[in-house]
Amino acid sequence: MFLERISYPEVQAYLQKSQTVLLPVGSLENHGKHMPLGTDTLIPEHLCDLVDAAFPDLLIAPPLHYGATEDLRGFPGTLSIGVEGLRILLTTILDQLFDYGFRRFIILNGHGGNSKSIDQAGMHLYHRGAYLACLNWWLIAGQLNAEWKGGHGGGEETAAILAVDPSLVHQEFIHLPENMRNDVSDELPSYSWTSVLFQGASVTIPRPVCSITDNGWLAHGMGSDAPSRATEAMGQEMMTAMCRYICDFAKAFSRAPLPGNP
Ligand SMILES: [Zn+2]
Repeated sequence: MFLERISYPEVQAYLQKSQTVLLPVGSLENHGKHMPLGTDTLIPEHLCDLVDAAFPDLLIAPPLHYGATEDLRGFPGTLSIGVEGLRILLTTILDQLFDYGFRRFIILNGHGGNSKSIDQAGMHLYHRGAYLACLNWWLIAGQLNAEWKGGHGGGEETAAILAVDPSLVHQEFIHLPENMRNDVSDELPSYSWTSVLFQGASVTIPRPVCSITDNGWLAHGMGSDAPSRATEAMGQEMMTAMCRYICDFAKAFSRAPLPGNP
């Protein structure tokens, strides 16, 4: 049940039987030359379509397409509203849902950089007597099946986008390496995201991602997560498992007593 497609009396009727709402949150950012900028929103949106088909009684709010992605600024088309911008946007929306009677908020998150803002919104809601649960789909998928574990724009996300729409993946770029560059020194080579590798361990030295790679997909040290390992079948299997997980979680979460009301 999608919020933008129902009327306010239907929301009133929904609140008579449930206080749970699901909100997908994504970002607009480079995911490598082979992937669309909207990857982190397209995947949660696709999951919402699957969830809606399997669990039509769950209310789903429209997605937030913009997220906090400061590290990836500089790749044309990457647009960040920052951690504080996303925190304000999220709490503004969630507080209004709270005022109408919603008490259980499920964030279906597509992007790691959004986590700080989501955590802050969740803590704020907790102190109002509500719960926010954040489902980071790519981390959950990697925990459900170690073969699905992946980095940024690597095999895991590429497989998911193949399941969304194979025409969104530019196959001519799928074999490109990470192309790490701009080492801090000979002893401190660029490793992943904003980190360098030293004696086998990674150390964060914040630098824009566009200064360390001209491609943009990053395995985060998981060498086995090359985009070229992705298949549409892998993506579909992963999306089906995630859909089941989200539906099961939403049911358990809806039954949980609210904070302060055990
Ligand atoms: Zn992503």
